[in-house]
Amino acid sequence: MGEQHKNRGYLSSSIGCYCPRCREGKLFQHKLGLNLKNNMMMNKNCTVCGQPSELEVGFYYGTSYVSYALTVALSVATLVAWYVIIGLSTEDNRFYYWMGSNAAFLIILQPWLMRLSRSLWISWFVKYDPDWREHQPEDVSERINPDQSGNW
Ligand SMILES: [Zn+2]
Repeated sequence: MGEQHKNRGYLSSSIGCYCPRCREGKLFQHKLGLNLKNNMMMNKNCTVCGQPSELEVGFYYGTSYVSYALTVALSVATLVAWYVIIGLSTEDNRFYYWMGSNAAFLIILQPWLMRLSRSLWISWFVKYDPDWREHQPEDVSERINPDQSGNW
């Protein structure tokens, strides 16, 4: 059981919000909780392999599209599940009950979805490196501190 983390795959690493490079360090500083500000605080660098979590200025702006896509995908999934389990009809309010339940479900999941979006986003830019101990993480300092690049 203690060896389990070494076999963490892409999906469990992304869903668990682990560093995409080493799949061992946590991307976020705090456990998922009710404090929305704490929820989104990331480690500047991976605490295990040193991978920067922000690859350039505004790196996470695109994640709103990811969370939108996740929201749509989840809504489709709950609609299908509702159709199978409860059924849909134009003769009663079952469709509206789905809409209400789905909205509540998405609101409850929102803090996790926002984190998952960031985790997925960075996983598309940073490759898994099983030999991360032997390599340095990519240097991004001039991309996140643009005013320093002209000062040499
Ligand atoms: Zn790492």
